[in-house]
Amino acid sequence: MSYKEELGVQIIDPEIKKKITTKAIFKIFNKFIYPLISEEEREFLLELEDFMLKEVEPLVDFSKDVYGLFPILGKGNYMQRLNPYGEGKHFGMRFELLLAMVTSIVDPELDLARVVSGLIFTNPLFQHGKDNPKIQQILKDVLSGEKVGSICITEPTQGSDAVNMKTLAVEHPDYITVTGEKVFTTNGPKADYFIVYAVADVDQPRKTMYQLVAERTFGGLETPRLGIPAVPRVHIGQTLFNGVNIPRENIVAEQGKGYEHLFSGLVAERGTIVGSSLGVSWLSMITAFMYQNYRVQFGKPIFSYEAVSFPMSELFSELLAATSIGLHMGTEYRKFVEHPEPKFTRYNATLSSGIKTVTSQLSHKIAYEAQHLCGGIAYTDNLKMDRALNVSRIQEVIGGSRNIQRFLVSRVLKDLMNDLD
Ligand SMILES: Cc1cc2nc3c(=O)[nH]c(=O)nc-3n(C[C@H](O)[C@H](O)[C@H](O)COP(=O)(O)OP(=O)(O)OC[C@H]3O[C@@H](n4cnc5c(N)ncnc54)[C@H](O)[C@@H]3O)c2cc1C
Repeated sequence: MSYKEELGVQIIDPEIKKKITTKAIFKIFNKFIYPLISEEEREFLLELEDFMLKEVEPLVDFSKDVYGLFPILGKGNYMQRLNPYGEGKHFGMRFELLLAMVTSIVDPELDLARVVSGLIFTNPLFQHGKDNPKIQQILKDVLSGEKVGSICITEPTQGSDAVNMKTLAVEHPDYITVTGEKVFTTNGPKADYFIVYAVADVDQPRKTMYQLVAERTFGGLETPRLGIPAVPRVHIGQTLFNGVNIPRENIVAEQGKGYEHLFSGLVAERGTIVGSSLGVSWLSMITAFMYQNYRVQFGKPIFSYEAVSFPMSELFSELLAATSIGLHMGTEYRKFVEHPEPKFTRYNATLSSGIKTVTSQLSHKIAYEAQHLCGGIAYTDNLKMDRALNVSRIQEVIGGSRNIQRFLVSRVLKDLMNDLD
C-alpha cells in the first residue's frame, strides 16, 4: 500500500482549507520578517517565495519521497545559498537561513533532505575542493539537484562521541580503502555521493582522521534504509563500507586534517538547522493563527478567546526573538569565514550551538502548543502541522543532541574563567 493510500479523509471545512494557502502564510510571514532584513534580502525572499509557489509547491506530493523535488530546487539554484555558486548575487548564511525558512514552510521534510545534500554535503567541498576538477564536478552534480549527497559521521557505537570513530582508512599509493559502518545517514539510501570520515589509527583519531568522498559507483557500499516514522519521505540509512576503494582525487582532507574539517563543518550545519527550525515554527504558528481565526466555537472564532490568543501571542513573541537572534547569528557567521582565527572559530561554534539548541527546542514547543491550540484537525493530515511537529523533533538531535551543544557551550564558559587566572 502506498503512503498516499494511507492518507486520511479531508474533514476540514473546505472554506477554511481554501484560505490557509502557502501564499497567505508567506504574506503573514513577510510582515514579521521584513523589519529584520535588508532591502536586498527582501528582494531575494520575494523571488524565492514566488519560485516556491510556482515551481515547487504544485509538485509536492506527500505520497512520494522528496527527492524528485531536488532538480526543481536545483533549477532555481536553491539547493543551498551559503556559498557563492552559479547565477545570482544572494549568498551567505543570512540568505541560507531565509532559504531554509521558506522551504520548511512549503515542505519541512524536503528542507531536511535539502539541507543535508545541498549544504552539509557541499560546504566542505566549497571550502577545500577549489582546485580539484573532480570535486568541482561533484559539486555541480549535487547543486543541480540531479545527484544526491550525504554525510557519514555517526557510527553504531560512536554518536555524541563521534571523534573516537572506528571506521578505518588504509592508505595505498593511489587510493584509500575504507571499512566500517555508519548509521543515521540522511539521504544515504538515495545518495550518489557520501562524505565519509575515517581514521588510520583508532587510538589516534584526531591525528589520523581523513575526510573523503565515496561514490555509489565505487562498489563495496550497502545502504539499507532505517525506519524513521517521523519523516517518511526522507530516506535515512545505515551505510556499510565494505572495503570501498576511494581514489586520491576524492580526498577532501588528508590524514589528520579530517578532524579540523569535522568541527568547522558543524558550525555551518548548526547554522542552517536554525533556519529549518525557525521555518517549521513559522509554518506551525501561522497555520494555527489562521485556523483559529476561521474556526468558530460557541459562536465566536476561537482566537477571540484569550485562553487561545494569549498563549499564541507569547509564542509569536518568542519566535520573533528567536528569528532575530538566528539572523544575527547569520551576520556573525561571516567572521567565521573571513577571519578563521581561533578566537572567532570558537565564538561561532558556541554561538551556533547555543542558538541551534534554543531554536530547535522552541520549534518543538511551538509545533506542539500550536497544534494543541487548534484541536483535533491539527493532528490530521488535513493541515501540515503534524508534519511540522515531527520534523521539529528531528531538528534537535541532528547536528548533535542537546547535551552535546550544552557541553560545547560549557567548555567555552570554563575557558572564560581560566582566562581570568
Ligand atoms: C533522523 C536523524 C538523522 C540523522 N542524520 C545524520 C546524518 O546525516 N549523518 C550522521 O553522521 N549522523 C546523523 N544523525 C545522527 C545524530 O547526529 C546522532 O543521533 C546524534 O549525534 C546523537 O548520537 P547518538 O544517537 O548515538 O546518541 P548518544 O551519543 O548515544 O546519546 C544518547 C543520549 O545521551 C546523551 N549523552 C551522550 N554523551 C553524553 C555526555 N558526555 N554528557 C551528557 N549527555 C550525553 C546525549 O545528549 C543523548 O541525549 C541523525 C540522527 C537522526 C535521528
